[in-house]
Amino acid sequence: MSDLTDLYQAVILDHNKRPRNRGRLPTATRVASGDNPTCGDNCTVYLRMEGDRIAEISFDGSGCAISQASASFMTTQVKGRTADEATARFAEFKDIVTTGRQPEDFSEVAAFAGVHAFPARIKCATLSWHAAIDALKQPDQPLQS
Ligand code: ZN
Repeated sequence: MSDLTDLYQAVILDHNKRPRNRGRLPTATRVASGDNPTCGDNCTVYLRMEGDRIAEISFDGSGCAISQASASFMTTQVKGRTADEATARFAEFKDIVTTGRQPEDFSEVAAFAGVHAFPARIKCATLSWHAAIDALKQPDQPLQS
């Protein structure tokens, strides 16, 4: 089991060390932010939609390792998906971090199942996802200059 734990730990560490899609997205037409005062995490999510599909996504923010790794992971999970698909993805992620249920196939999402043992950290893990869902519900805005 400890090998598995190490593997999962490695996934989270890797997303921390080499965050995917990090930084402000200059072409974003939707932006939403969230914060988690109990831990001191904050996250802003930038989206550019093409029709109903997420063409580009990025995040920015600071906070604990779980919040930052989860934000990086989230961008890789929803990029290229429709709003409905991204929402379904979030429902699955939330279920995994809340219950600790292991997905049947190994995937990076399993790395976050361990979060369920630390209820205070669930908000860390879901912060960026909530911001992304908020952004998906917005109308498109003109590009920021
Ligand atoms: Zn946190």
